[in-house]
Amino acid sequence: MIKRLPGALILLVLLLATAGCGSSSSTGPLLNTAQTSENTQGRMIVHFLDVGQGDSIFVQLPNGHNMLVDAGPREAGTDVVNYLKKAGVKKIDYLVATHPHEDHIGGMTAIIRRFDIDRVYMPRVTYTTKVYEDLLKGIQAEGLKINAASDGVEIINSGGLRAEMIAPNSAAYEEINNYSTVIKLSFGKTGFLLTGDAESQSEREMLADGYSLEADVLKVGHHGSYSSTSPAFLNAVRPKYSVISCGAGNDYGFPHAATLQKLRGIQLFRTDLDGDVVFETDGEGLQVSTERR
Ligand SMILES: [Zn+2]
Repeated sequence: MIKRLPGALILLVLLLATAGCGSSSSTGPLLNTAQTSENTQGRMIVHFLDVGQGDSIFVQLPNGHNMLVDAGPREAGTDVVNYLKKAGVKKIDYLVATHPHEDHIGGMTAIIRRFDIDRVYMPRVTYTTKVYEDLLKGIQAEGLKINAASDGVEIINSGGLRAEMIAPNSAAYEEINNYSTVIKLSFGKTGFLLTGDAESQSEREMLADGYSLEADVLKVGHHGSYSSTSPAFLNAVRPKYSVISCGAGNDYGFPHAATLQKLRGIQLFRTDLDGDVVFETDGEGLQVSTERR
């Protein structure tokens, strides 16, 4: 089932890089559209980016649109901008800030400055840090409107492609992490569960609400912290592959040993050890490759 295709990835990256260079001086809308659809050709590519301690997931949708879920910490902003530019991205159709912690939104101000953004989604939460306020100011400066992220919000549903928010399920939490937007992304027979930093309280709510949690790929909650990935939740997701996004030698000891123990028997990728982790699917099979930048 699983294939590591470094050669294929390098070829793909080269093709994307060439496409990006070839048109860097042109801004014609027709060319942009053609270029965007060329990149994916009916395939979905999900990139778990190595942003150090934080999360950033870039999704090239099969219809040629782009989604970015989080943008890593502030110091990763330029790297994320460059990664997207290299992939030929001109416009981000869906930008999701899972929750206001710096390791998820710190790089987002740079993203908003450099790309056209269509829709922005953020959970409704009051949080006062400079980095969060800077992001809100940046969003306002670009004239963008914030769409509330909460359970039941359908981002996309067309032609076998679906992106639905299944958390947060409550209006108020003590722990900011539980405000995390959780996205179930499905294309054909394949599914991804992007959990942000949702902890066991949010996991219990998703289970109680009866959402179909089953997914091939689980973005492990909260960088592999013991406070997420409760056994009942993991049993419901039943992933074939799991991805932990965390920084090498981070201050929090992520991923925690208890989480690694729970994930035994599931193929695990880690951005701190593997670099960028990239899944590609035609809606039937999944291929994964990793690359250190
Ligand atoms: Zn985090």
